Amino acid sequence: MHAPVPTAPEAPCRVGVVVEAPQHSGLWGALDYLHPQTLPAGALVRVPLGRRVVTGVVWDPVASQGDVPPESLKAVLETFEALPPLPEAWRKLVAFAAAYYQRSLGEMALMVLPPELRQLDQVQLARRLKRLDKAVAAELAAAGKAAPDDPAHDTADGAPPSPPQPLPELSAQQAEALARLAASPPQTSLLWGSTGSGKTEVYLREAQRVLDAGRQVLMMVPEINLTPQLEARVAARFAGRRIVSLHSGLTPAQRLRNWLMALRGQADVVLGTRLSVFTPLPCPGLIVVDEEHDPSYKQQDGARYSARDLAVYRGRLEGVPVLLGSATPSLETWFNALPASEGGTGRYLRLAMPERIGGGVMPKVRLLDMSRAPKPGRGESAPPLSAPLLAAITERVERGEQSLVLLNRRGYAPVLQCGDCGWQSGCPHCSAWRVFHKVDRTLRCHHCGFTERVPRACPDCGNQDIQPVGRGTERLEEQLAEALPGARVGRIDADVTKHKGSLETQLASVHAGDVDVLVGTQMVAKGHDFRRITLVAAVNPDAALFASDFRAAERQFALLLQAAGRAGRDADVAGHSEMWVQTWHPLHPLYQALRDYDYEAFATRQLQERQSAGLPPYASLALLRAEAKTQDAATDFLRAAAESVGHIAGGVTLYPAVPTPVQRVADIERAQMMLESPQRPALQRLLTEAQPIWLALAQQHRRSGLVRWAVDVDPLSI
Ligand code: ADP
Ligand code: ZN
Ligand code: ZN
Repeated sequence: MHAPVPTAPEAPCRVGVVVEAPQHSGLWGALDYLHPQTLPAGALVRVPLGRRVVTGVVWDPVASQGDVPPESLKAVLETFEALPPLPEAWRKLVAFAAAYYQRSLGEMALMVLPPELRQLDQVQLARRLKRLDKAVAAELAAAGKAAPDDPAHDTADGAPPSPPQPLPELSAQQAEALARLAASPPQTSLLWGSTGSGKTEVYLREAQRVLDAGRQVLMMVPEINLTPQLEARVAARFAGRRIVSLHSGLTPAQRLRNWLMALRGQADVVLGTRLSVFTPLPCPGLIVVDEEHDPSYKQQDGARYSARDLAVYRGRLEGVPVLLGSATPSLETWFNALPASEGGTGRYLRLAMPERIGGGVMPKVRLLDMSRAPKPGRGESAPPLSAPLLAAITERVERGEQSLVLLNRRGYAPVLQCGDCGWQSGCPHCSAWRVFHKVDRTLRCHHCGFTERVPRACPDCGNQDIQPVGRGTERLEEQLAEALPGARVGRIDADVTKHKGSLETQLASVHAGDVDVLVGTQMVAKGHDFRRITLVAAVNPDAALFASDFRAAERQFALLLQAAGRAGRDADVAGHSEMWVQTWHPLHPLYQALRDYDYEAFATRQLQERQSAGLPPYASLALLRAEAKTQDAATDFLRAAAESVGHIAGGVTLYPAVPTPVQRVADIERAQMMLESPQRPALQRLLTEAQPIWLALAQQHRRSGLVRWAVDVDPLSI
């Protein structure tokens, strides 16, 4: 159906094809190949590359006459006629992302395609498409006969029953938000609404409008495995529509199928994690980024892109509205949603929904001053929960209500120690402790994964009595079970979710009321609609106040507020819901703003600090990262890199190279250098010009132990 237009056979065309080439190969653009006919831009092809045959994307249908003579060019081996070419907007988005995040075009383009697609040849793909079309046709035929048991809906195991079908009456603030959206041209909007204010309902209404107009919706969530409820809600609302999900938890075949359905316009709604921002859509009508402040939108290795920022770019590119939703927007987004009269850029429309649906109120915040708590006796360690907090939880247990206890550290204890000789359970490969996991009696490094069984005795002096120091979620769970006899204590963290299905099981038992006290990491603070939680406690949240990372406070505020939002979601319990914070610094402005639920005050203060320190959103940052066999080799490279661009660094400040916070991981030393500029274009220009220089420099430094280097644009943590 997309048959290329034939041209004279005696003059083969020269087409530019992007293929996956490693960043450091120095190949940034397309490679020329020959083909008897022209091929449309965006078409998928198989081409020879070295001794391999690889999948590539036609970038220049008529490649410029490069310096390679046609005799030495290779021919395109296969084309995929059954597949529509990737849309122009997709190519533009990929090209922008590659340039902005300093990666090669080929790496970016191929990285965002479903991995399985790159394995298939023409015949195999045609077979898949046929099967897919058959399934879609069968589904259409079956529609209306029975309740749709749509295989395209990835069923959300462990999800609570779907919300009531009849559309609720909109709240006044929802109605206003929707009216303002309807009245404004397509642009980026910030839906700034408390948890439980009905943001999702606003997304769904907007989605409905767009679907009715025959367009597609892209809805992004930070972690799809943790939000089965959204999937269930979307599926329940748009029963007649085809909803597909795209995230790394799918099998390669599922992911390819869902992606193909999106590209061919067979999917109406795409629900996905950050990688879904690159989903090719023939007729997009809306992009939603839920919990836009969430750090998971930033890819943390390889091409370190921000899906949130790319969504905003994509919206502009395609003339499609973008809805960013959050109770605690990132300061970048907040700055863009602040009118110029209030010191912001005024680029985004700001829609505020401060009230919770149904008159629900946020839990009352109680800052528990730990400096007043009784000190533990000699040789005793302080109990995890202070007496009044324990009493408050006990009260909940007796009333049949649930409590959520937040501790952002998994494992049993962060380190084991020998009381005699001082041995500690360090990782031999990293500059970090190995965490004691009691469940399977292992010491595990959370950086490199190195795992061993816990030694019976101290490896240095043979002392049999080695002790856990500090506390993680496992230990807290154990201690709470001891302190609350009869209470059912559960735990949710990354260790629980490692076993397939166990997160769903655990969530289901919380929803069913089989858990009285739930211990968890930040994972439980996100998105879950727990109905019977009336107490949320943050056990040890102070570390973030003094972290060197300038975003630590912002992240902590968002986490605590989000956690608070887990309590009192039902109006009948909202009245006596509480958020407890055990802190040594109750007067800290972060906690004061939390107590008043005053995000605005918090943001204003943070923005002032950022402005005076010359930090984002008032400046743009990039990190040049280096990994080497020795710390010297890493810093030497960074120093040389800074010197090599000194003459073109106008308007950009290059800071001294420093070891990263965890400087050795898996026997590799890591260092980084920060680049900062008040003008984003100046930073971009420098990075682009620096790439070839640093590439050559890195070649030289390889001999002295440099292993890897990369640029991280708009780094999330520094
Ligand atoms: P948010 O996404 O802001 O946390 P939700 O959209 O999940 O909030 O809404 C919270 C709860 O209120 C959900 O159970 C939802 O079904 C319900 N809800 C949303 N809008 C309304 C409304 N206008 N009337 C009644 N209930 C509503
Ligand atoms: Zn010892
Ligand atoms: Zn390690």
